[in-house]
Amino acid sequence: MRILVTGGAGFIGSEYVRMLLAAPGSCGPADPQLEPSVVTVLDKLTYSGNLANLAAVRDDRRLRFVRGDICDQALVDEVVADHDVVVHFAAESHVDRSIAGAAPFVVTNVLGTQTLLDAALRHGAHRFVHVSTDEVYGSIDEGFWTEASPLAPNSPYSASKAASDLLALAYHRTHGMDVVVTRCSNNYGPYQYPEKIVPLFVTNLLDGRTVPLYGDGGNVRDWLHVHDHCVGIALVQQKGRAGEVYHIGGGTELTNKELTARLLAACGAGWDRVVPVADRKGHDRRYALDIGKTTAELGYTPSVDLDRGLAETVRWYRDNRAWWEPLKPAAGA
Ligand code: NAD
Repeated sequence: MRILVTGGAGFIGSEYVRMLLAAPGSCGPADPQLEPSVVTVLDKLTYSGNLANLAAVRDDRRLRFVRGDICDQALVDEVVADHDVVVHFAAESHVDRSIAGAAPFVVTNVLGTQTLLDAALRHGAHRFVHVSTDEVYGSIDEGFWTEASPLAPNSPYSASKAASDLLALAYHRTHGMDVVVTRCSNNYGPYQYPEKIVPLFVTNLLDGRTVPLYGDGGNVRDWLHVHDHCVGIALVQQKGRAGEVYHIGGGTELTNKELTARLLAACGAGWDRVVPVADRKGHDRRYALDIGKTTAELGYTPSVDLDRGLAETVRWYRDNRAWWEPLKPAAGA
């Protein structure tokens, strides 16, 4: 099986590639049937893409790397042609950046997805896995979203992801394309660009600096280790029904304040290192996914305990300073 992974040099995409190629330290493919003959990474290497994320699989003869933009129709057409499956991670992914400027989000997340879908349609790729987010649903005070809940995105990031989800599903309904969509909760783990809350806080704390906590710290997120996300995507790639959406979540809700307390403890720091800052504009209060369908149909269950996962993640950033130190100035440390 020849698998094209867009955005495979980013945080989650690179974990997927390491998993597919069973890199040392990864858990290997969720199923031997996923064993790829070729894994091609198509990545523009924006600020968050990093070839160092693929160092563990650099010498694997099945890996090909193509530096390029998913909006480049000629290139995408050429690359997609040689593959059976497209797993589409490439995106502009940071909400704060989308508030500062939405244009790259619309271009990459919407036009880029359409460019890939068109190429996959032309070449009859047999499966297109579109990786998306719980943020497309907006905010929920109580209860959980199911895959049938209406989309009500609030940030330019989530609006662009919602648009791309709907496009992907439209290609299934209109053209009969074999499309599956995953929507996942907040990920944490190694190799995450240090602008997102977990690596930002951990690397600041390891450097003896303060950390900025938005508003009253009461915003709730469901946290999932990146490896569990990738296991879920692999199950959907392999067994998901065409035209369906599948939730991938961790079942571990924390307020940002509770998450901060855990990160402070893991880094041996106190609350004096936390600086309250004005809340993010339009900050969604709570995200919560019902993962019952993915569990019942595909046998998905998250396996990484949150405390263990966070402790391992802190240890990884402690042990891999050389990976994140050069990124900190651009991440707005
Ligand atoms: P990331 O920012 O770490 O990685 C994005 C990757 O896409 C980078 O390697 C970047 O170079 C590449 N890229 C960006 N624009 C591109 C373009 N025009 N052409 C080719 N490559 C391009 O993001 P991530 O956190 O790994 O997220 C991956 C996907 O998972 C995204 O689609 C995101 O919406 C989704 N997702 C993320 C989370 C999370 O918690 N991080 C949760 C749910 C879903």
